[in-house]
Amino acid sequence: MNRKLFLKTSLFYLLNLSCSTNVTRLSKNTYNKKVIVIGAGMAGSSVAYQLKNEGYDVQILEARTRVGGRIYTNRERGYPIDLGASWMHGNKQNPLEPVIKQFGVKSKETDYENVVLLDGDSEITPEILFNSYQKFQALLDKIKAQTENSIKDQNLRDLLDINYKKETLEEIDKKLFIYFERGIENELGAELSKLSGYGIFHIGEKIEGGDELILSGFDTILYGLLKNININFNQKVISVRQSADSVKVETQTNVFSADFVIITVPVSVLQKNSIVFDPPLPLEKSNAISKIPFGFYSKYILEFPEKFWTDEDAYVQLKGMKNQWYELLLNLEPYTNKPVLGFLSSGERAKAVEKDKNLLPKAISELKKIFDVNIPSPLKTFQTDWSVDPFSLGAYTYPSREMESLVKEYAQPYGKIFFAGEGTHEKYFSYVHGAYLSGIREAERILNL
Ligand SMILES: Cc1cc2nc3c(=O)[nH]c(=O)nc-3n(C[C@H](O)[C@H](O)[C@H](O)COP(=O)(O)OP(=O)(O)OC[C@H]3O[C@@H](n4cnc5c(N)ncnc54)[C@H](O)[C@@H]3O)c2cc1C
Repeated sequence: MNRKLFLKTSLFYLLNLSCSTNVTRLSKNTYNKKVIVIGAGMAGSSVAYQLKNEGYDVQILEARTRVGGRIYTNRERGYPIDLGASWMHGNKQNPLEPVIKQFGVKSKETDYENVVLLDGDSEITPEILFNSYQKFQALLDKIKAQTENSIKDQNLRDLLDINYKKETLEEIDKKLFIYFERGIENELGAELSKLSGYGIFHIGEKIEGGDELILSGFDTILYGLLKNININFNQKVISVRQSADSVKVETQTNVFSADFVIITVPVSVLQKNSIVFDPPLPLEKSNAISKIPFGFYSKYILEFPEKFWTDEDAYVQLKGMKNQWYELLLNLEPYTNKPVLGFLSSGERAKAVEKDKNLLPKAISELKKIFDVNIPSPLKTFQTDWSVDPFSLGAYTYPSREMESLVKEYAQPYGKIFFAGEGTHEKYFSYVHGAYLSGIREAERILNL
C-alpha cells in the first residue's frame, strides 16, 4: 500500500489518533501452558514473542517455507526488496517504533511530494498540483460531511461523480483528480466503486507522520521477534478441533495438540473455509468473517544494469491514467542503492498485473514514454502473486460501513481458539502495526484467563 500518493495532507490526517506506543509488558506470572500459533506473519510473531517471554510453550505452524506472510523480503539479488509490506505508515508514535529500535532496524522516510507528474509536453508544477489538491480535498470534506449522518451508504465513485457534476472543473483538475482518485485506490487496495463512502471517512484510524521504508527489509523485525520461537514450516493447517481439555490442530502431515490456539491467517483465507473448525464457528462469527472486505495490491519491480532516471521519489504518467495498469512508478534507488524501479497497482488492476505473463514489454513501453530514453533490459524482475497465493488471496482489508462490528465479532475468542491478524484490529486493520498490536492484544487476553 502506498499511503501518500496523493500528498501529505491526506484526508485521513483528519482522523484522531490514539494508540499504545510501547511494547506492552505483560504482567501475569509465567504459566507453562502450550500454545500453538497458526501463521508466522507479523501478528503470529507478535503474539508468539509476548507469550514466549511470559514462559508459555509456544509453537508456530506456518504453511509456507518462510516467515513473514504478507511481509516478504526477497534477498536474491544480495540486497533486500520488500515484495509485500514495505512502509511503516505514520512515524509519529507508531507502535512498531519500539521494536524497530529494539532490533536496530534502519528506515528512511519517503517523500511523496517529490513526485514527477508527466502530462505529455505540459508541465505540472508543484503549485498547479497543490491548487488542484486543495480543490479535491474540499470536495472530500464535503463528501465526508454528507456521509456523516446518511442512512444509505453510497460508494465513493458515485459520491465523487455526484459532486463533480455540481462543480465546473478546469481541464487540469479533471486530469489531476484522476491521479488523486488513484491515490485513494492505491492506499486501500480497491476501486472507488467498491469503497464505502461512510467507511473511508469514518472507520479506522491513521497514525500521523511520514511513511518509513524499512531499509534492511521488513522481515528483520520479524527475525528479532522470532529469535527463540519454535516454527514448523510447510504445515498447512486444515482443521482445528477443540474439546473440553485441549485443541487439536491438524495439518496436511501432522496433528498437534495445545491448550490454546491463536489463528492469524488472513481473513481472506478463512473466507474460503480452508480451515475446518470443530465444533463449527458460531454463525455470527462466520458471517462477520465472510463480510470483511479484502483488497488487492501488486508490485512489479525491475532491477536495471544502470540508472536512467532522475532522483525524484516517484513518477506518474498522467496521460491515459484512466486506463493505466499501475498507479505509481516508485524509484527504489534511494533505498536499495541499486538501479531499481517498481510499478505499484491496486484493486482489479493489481489482479490483472499478477496474472499477466507478458508484463515486461508493457513496463518497458511505459518507461520509454515516461523517460524518453532507450530502456536497457532489466537484470531481474519481480512480479508478485498475492491475489492467487492460497495463503494470502489478496493484500489487506479495507473499511466498509459495518467494519467496526464485523472486526469486533471476528476478533472474539471462541473457546480455546483466539484470533489475531491485521483484519482483527478495530482501528488499524490493513496495516502491519495493526497486525502487531493484535498479537499483543491476544497475548494479554490469554494471560488474563
Ligand atoms: C503487496 C502488499 C503491500 C503492503 N504494504 C504495506 C505497507 O507498506 N505497510 C503496511 O503497514 N502494510 C502493508 N501491507 C499489509 C501488511 O502486509 C499486512 O497488514 C500484515 O503483514 C498482515 O500481517 P498478519 O500477521 O495479519 O497476516 P500475514 O502476514 O498474512 O500472516 C499470516 C500467516 O498465516 C500463514 N497461513 C495462511 N494460511 C495458513 C494455513 N492454512 N496454515 C498455516 N499457516 C497459514 C501465512 O502463510 C502467513 O505467514 C501490504 C500488503 C501487501 C500484500
